[in-house]
Amino acid sequence: MKFNKQKSPQAEKEFGGTLGATCIPVFLPLTVLYLLCVCRSPVASVIQWPPVLPPTAQLWDPLAPVLILGWMALQSFFYLLPMGKLSEGMVLKDGSRLKYPINGFYALCITAVLLTLSLWLGMPLGYLFELLLPLAVCAIGVSFLLSLYLYICSFWAPHHALAQGGNTGNPLYDFFMGRELNPRIGSFDLKYFCELRPGLIGWVVINFGMLMKEVELRDSASLAMILVNGFQLLYVADALWNEEAVLTTMDIVHDGFGFMLVFGDLAWVPFTYSLQAAFLVVHPQSLSPLGICYICAGYYIFRKSNSQKNQFRRDPTHPSVANLETIATATGKRLLVSGWWGLVRHPNYLGDLLMALAWSLPCGFNHLLPYFYVVYFTVLLIHREARDERHCRAKYGLAWDSYCRHVPYRIFPYIY
Ligand code: NDP
Repeated sequence: MKFNKQKSPQAEKEFGGTLGATCIPVFLPLTVLYLLCVCRSPVASVIQWPPVLPPTAQLWDPLAPVLILGWMALQSFFYLLPMGKLSEGMVLKDGSRLKYPINGFYALCITAVLLTLSLWLGMPLGYLFELLLPLAVCAIGVSFLLSLYLYICSFWAPHHALAQGGNTGNPLYDFFMGRELNPRIGSFDLKYFCELRPGLIGWVVINFGMLMKEVELRDSASLAMILVNGFQLLYVADALWNEEAVLTTMDIVHDGFGFMLVFGDLAWVPFTYSLQAAFLVVHPQSLSPLGICYICAGYYIFRKSNSQKNQFRRDPTHPSVANLETIATATGKRLLVSGWWGLVRHPNYLGDLLMALAWSLPCGFNHLLPYFYVVYFTVLLIHREARDERHCRAKYGLAWDSYCRHVPYRIFPYIY
């Protein structure tokens, strides 16, 4: 294949352009390490000054790279097992469609069996708590190395395989955004694999390690810890059960695979989304299950709205979506203006945010740290909504304006 240095016409740089692409890869990894340090400190204050800094010895453990690489290899092996069906992605620029194995839920189940087996063999899973910082350091290292590999390999990809956004000719920005849309090694799709496997399943394994640490320390798991583990396991199991829906999301359809997604998938998700469980190990809370109403409502809205759009995009004549009101667009695709997508323009984000709040409530109201995820996720989804809005306006023009008039609120009905 020939070396490809061609650039795409670039409308507007995202994430603060070159400055953002230079600062974010420094700032976010430090944030992960900082939050992990704060959450195990007695005060657990995110605004404490001077900040809690660990001795360098706590950042490294030779077991950590073995665990991280072993984990990636194990999940890759599950990905390659001939289980589940093959599904086609959306149509690409050259008119082709890639095939993806839908077996993430099996990977979760096999992982659960292996965890049970390791418990039975007496493996100290609670030791994950002590290993959190070195594991995060290694995951960050792997993210940088993988992003570099992807950036270099992208120069051998054909032009039609490049993402619109990460192909500006500016190395820092392109490294961050990702040049190639669907980098693969043979039929192994690196972006699709990283999106839902090592980080997401890793997150619930870390949570379980925190629960075992609590059992070690206090002889039993607290209600708060069980709720956090249960809610987050439900979220991950749902994502993997509905794995096919990821094929119509922005990450797969639009964004290149660069540091932004690699780091998000492999380091940010497993190590910051598990902060609540890690927090509870050091700061036990005795609480009633306040979050249950929220989780049910949030989960319902999140699942129903994502499934409705996914079904509509895959087969608009399916009985579950055929009667919904739609608007025609110049591209031939239609936009839903009733059902969940008639309530707000991103009902799936609304549901996700309600759930995020439910995960934090079992941690009580005395600390800000367990609410870090809700605050960060609100910022992320508001920014993501604005990006998607820009893409959709560029794609659908007048039809998008008409959709916005029909459905004036973006995420929160009558508020935003
Ligand atoms: P969405 O699934 O919301 O997809 C957006 C796309 O849907 C648009 O680009 C458009 O694409 C299509 N669309 C928009 N409006 C309509 C409409 N009215 N009718 C039909 N199609 C429409 O994108 P995301 O990838 O952002 O989100 C997927 C899920 O992942 C969400 O639930 C989100 O909360 C979750 N998520 C979770 C994260 C986490 O860290 N936990 C991070 C990011 C997302 P087109 O028209 O081209 O089909």
